[in-house]
Amino acid sequence: TDGTLSPVDPPVRLRPEIVALPAYRQGKPASSSAFKLSSNENPFAPLPAVLAALEDERDINRYPDATALALREKLAAKYRVSADEVHIGAGSVALLAQLLLAAAGPGDEVVYSWRSFEAYPSLVTVTGATGVQVPNRADGGHDLPAIAANIGDRTRAVIVCSPNNPTGSIVTADEFETFMAAVPDDLLVILDEAYAEFVTDAGAVDGTLLLSRYPNLVVLRTFSKAYGLAGLRVGYALGRVAILDAARATAIPLSVTGPGATAAIASLDHEAELLDRVRQIAERRDRLWEDLVAHGWQIPRPQGNFIWLPTGPETSDVAARLADAGLVVRPFPADGIRLSIGEEEAVQKLLQMSEEIVGSLP
Ligand code: PMP
Repeated sequence: TDGTLSPVDPPVRLRPEIVALPAYRQGKPASSSAFKLSSNENPFAPLPAVLAALEDERDINRYPDATALALREKLAAKYRVSADEVHIGAGSVALLAQLLLAAAGPGDEVVYSWRSFEAYPSLVTVTGATGVQVPNRADGGHDLPAIAANIGDRTRAVIVCSPNNPTGSIVTADEFETFMAAVPDDLLVILDEAYAEFVTDAGAVDGTLLLSRYPNLVVLRTFSKAYGLAGLRVGYALGRVAILDAARATAIPLSVTGPGATAAIASLDHEAELLDRVRQIAERRDRLWEDLVAHGWQIPRPQGNFIWLPTGPETSDVAARLADAGLVVRPFPADGIRLSIGEEEAVQKLLQMSEEIVGSLP
């Protein structure tokens, strides 16, 4: 052949709802001279100690420990739970998929706020269940009373995202506890806290502190963002054993790699250093937000490692102008732009451009 098996689609019967799903939309790569602010990654280079631990990880001819016990034990000690109340996945997105598969199927519903993390609609569709999207409040935050009002007999899971990707808003502890008191106690509530370590608002929910109170709660965290291991794919879920065992049953076996687990353990061993970087990123974020607000933006207070610019119909124009300046961001057409808090130099470029961009908004 000339490099293509066949120009004609084969008559193989596939699930039409799966065929119709869009591919996962990855943040645009940046040229070597540009800053990649499109995937909420950590701009710092890996810690030497983490790279050294990876150097020692040579038994890659052997399969990894299927449940990553050593990592689970470390996380169990950190959060004061048992090792079986920790479940490791190939990124927190894998854990989300597993939990949804464990709880929801055809005829069921999964309720979540929208706009939120773009993987949610696809992951729900894959289970065969129907997604119920509850619009964010005008300030970009979750409308938890409206989410609760959309829970019905068919609802099998709710996803709450705090800080919310892409708006950056948090759910407060008070809002969350009121919500948990209102939902059935046999309903799985998944609290996606992928960006928790960047939160500085003392009123924000911290799901890890609420696990003992709510047996139907599972908290998702990741090594991809604050710990800078996005390329190695390690996330974790904390919750009751019965729920996590059901998630484990849906998992693709052995998808957490040995190097991934090793790097996560090394990161926990050097957590103070990593959290100091997190503090620097949060400071850059706050500086940028204060500057943008001073220039007249109305932006929800960001609490992740990214900022949401509600650029509306100007979104493509503004994204193009940022790209011209060497800043590759994530545009959501006709809605807004999400940009990650990256290198200090990228923040400086944004500060230089904020006034000009605001001036051109509708
Ligand atoms: N949850 C949210 C809200 C996210 O933004 C992301 C990454 N974009 C994830 C989960 C998944 O992260 P990972 O699979 O790398 O842990």
